[in-house]
Amino acid sequence: MQAEKIIQTGKRLYDKNLTFATSGNISIRTEKGILITASGTALGMLKESDIVLIDFEGKEICGGKASSEKMLHVELYKLRPDVNAIIHTHPVYLTAFAACRKPLNEPIMSENILYFEDIPVAPYSMPSSTELAENTVQYFKKRDVVMMANHGAVAAGNSLEQAFLKMETAEYYAKVSLTVKLIGEPKYLSEKDVDDLINLKRIMVH
Ligand code: 13P
Ligand code: ZN
Repeated sequence: MQAEKIIQTGKRLYDKNLTFATSGNISIRTEKGILITASGTALGMLKESDIVLIDFEGKEICGGKASSEKMLHVELYKLRPDVNAIIHTHPVYLTAFAACRKPLNEPIMSENILYFEDIPVAPYSMPSSTELAENTVQYFKKRDVVMMANHGAVAAGNSLEQAFLKMETAEYYAKVSLTVKLIGEPKYLSEKDVDDLINLKRIMVH
């Protein structure tokens, strides 16, 4: 049942061009530990045997070899008790901004300020390293979506559905940002507009 949710989310990510081939990984927090995709699996074509149960130290309890980014997931669950699902993928536009190490922080759209405030870029570390996990997780103290320099993006939510919607919206934000740069001469929201939006966010549920 819970594994099925991961399988369906993998398909959705693939159908929406938010992942491709064997890039990325998905996990959920459960009562027994963390269910996470196995290393090297194609998220668009997951089978039940591709889902591994690990403990909160990253040790495999049941199934094959867990994702090489398992410590990123483990550290993030430890930091944020409200987070129950994590998606890491390499969507084209977010990854391009991550490659340029450019955070998405220009006040171009009211909705994106309400939803994210901004999307920062965590410093580069080797994929799968504990350094990558530690550096990236720090950004989740204040944000739910973070880009990883020269790598991709991570979205956290209190459900898999929420994590998916965050990744989808973040990629949309990256697309709009690039399009605005191509058109040129954007008319930015003022500091007051941004402050008002941030205050509005406090009374809205997102
Ligand atoms: P895994 O297949 O080991 O989960 O790795 C994919 C990935 O995106 C590494 O950063
Ligand atoms: Zn990756």
